[in-house]
Amino acid sequence: MVEDLGFASTMMDIPLQVRRLLDHGARVHGASRVITATDDGLRERTFAEIGARAAQLAHGLRDLGIGAGDRVGTFQWNNDRHVEAYLAVPSMGSVVHPLNIRLFPEQLIFTANHAADRVVIVDNSLLPGFAKLLPALTSVEHVIVAGDADLSVLDDAGVAVHSYESLLEGRATTYDWPDVDERSAAAMCYTSGTTGDPKGVVYSHRSIYLHALAEALPDVFDLSYRDLLLGVVPQFHVLAWGLPYTAFATGCSMAMPDRFLAPEPLARFIAAARPNKAAGVPTVWAGLLQHLAAAPDADVSSLTEVVVGGSALPEAMMKAFDARGITALHAWGMTEMSPLGTLARPPAGAAEADHDRYRLTQGRFVPSVEARLIGPDGDELPWDDESVGELEVRGPWIADAYYGADDPDKFHDGWLRTGDVGVISPDGYLRLTDRSKDVIKSGGEWISSVELEGHLIAHPDVVEASVVGVPDDRWGERPLAAVVLREGAQITFDDLRAFLADKVARWQLPERWTLVAEIPKTSVGKFDKKRIRRSYREDELDVTTLGSDRDR
Ligand code: ADP
Repeated sequence: MVEDLGFASTMMDIPLQVRRLLDHGARVHGASRVITATDDGLRERTFAEIGARAAQLAHGLRDLGIGAGDRVGTFQWNNDRHVEAYLAVPSMGSVVHPLNIRLFPEQLIFTANHAADRVVIVDNSLLPGFAKLLPALTSVEHVIVAGDADLSVLDDAGVAVHSYESLLEGRATTYDWPDVDERSAAAMCYTSGTTGDPKGVVYSHRSIYLHALAEALPDVFDLSYRDLLLGVVPQFHVLAWGLPYTAFATGCSMAMPDRFLAPEPLARFIAAARPNKAAGVPTVWAGLLQHLAAAPDADVSSLTEVVVGGSALPEAMMKAFDARGITALHAWGMTEMSPLGTLARPPAGAAEADHDRYRLTQGRFVPSVEARLIGPDGDELPWDDESVGELEVRGPWIADAYYGADDPDKFHDGWLRTGDVGVISPDGYLRLTDRSKDVIKSGGEWISSVELEGHLIAHPDVVEASVVGVPDDRWGERPLAAVVLREGAQITFDDLRAFLADKVARWQLPERWTLVAEIPKTSVGKFDKKRIRRSYREDELDVTTLGSDRDR
């Protein structure tokens, strides 16, 4: 409960709204740009143009009957039109809901129906896939197709179909945005639902606004109107980490790769658009770095800083970026946190030799994100860089509930239980050792799957590695290492085990190994450990067991 002191401030009470970010970006930073990759090269739109088109989109949507609180789904890649929807929909008082195009169809259908999207804006390149889902989307009345497309594929769909450009054409380029309560809903995203149905998180105008300002801070993403940021993190995943809003708050230009995310076209886009900063998950960077190693002429020299988050930044990746003169910055967050929680820049005065150690932590807490560590018996643990506990957080852009689903286990006493396990240093650097469900509980002790993966991936012959806990009669659980090897590699599992031997305690060394063609990924590009565990359970993996037992 907040306390009223009986002595009021003399400050204006201006609500923090997305429309203010839109107006600011379009007016003050009107010349900043969103550059989108297309089949025919780059498409550039200034923030002023995007502001005008956002107003046109809002008029169009209003004429379709979309009003306060109505959900507008998007089924789009990262591009300028998707940014228009990000800005227009909340500004007009409706709620933008980016649908995660990579979810399994039944999960996608669940999220659109659960959110009750009345309209969906669809990229032409995604139309065939969307058309298949449409019959199951019970609340959708209108489909707006962005880009040239044969709309007749939706003829029998029982919804009104519109072309995006026709909807905007000829409409007023300004809009009298409503003055909405800053605590009202502006956007929503669903977590990818590693267990059960996806869970909806509803962001407010206030949470988006505050997150946008904090994200730009020099010790966080350090974004300003002098920057051009490559947004690889999908707009359908945690609002692209809020970056389009930060762009409009600061004037930072954006380079949007649309569907050209494979390493080779992405490298070409970087060479053409020349961003100096970038943000994305490790799997995208792993692909890009592998491509660059084989393509010496690819020019990514414009890049200076790359923010890596969503899963742990492997040391080998950090070094590979370093070797190209690019600083990889590690960030941690989650859908429930808008997503920003920490970002790892070494502190002032840290010796050069200590920099890597700081950079490999998940980072320092961003202002407004409060954290505590809870030990196995429920006690709060000290920030001593040693006590391992589950991390809980709270703050103005952190969810307090899921949309339409109770989860008292996740949210309690005003804190969000993250499901992440780790330590915090006295000066506020978080180091995650695992996700609580991925930690390998072996003989009453914990083995960090993340640590083993980090060491394995550092081996030159290992392309990908994932370690999961599998049932073991004697120890409860033991690690199983699934690895993808470089083509032509001659290495054996014994060699890999020997490679790990001086890096982790002997009893932590995996004895179960399996070679796979690819590590299965979730819809947002993370290793899908659930699937690996299931394949193991169902005997689908060819597992080699080294030694007879572990030596403790
Ligand atoms: P989903 O639950 O849909 O996979 P989220 O992006 O919300 O998507 O996942 C958040 C989780 O991702 C965090 O709780 C954490 O376990 C993991 N994560 C995010 N960033 C990092 C990071 N830098 N290092 C390690 N794990 C991370």
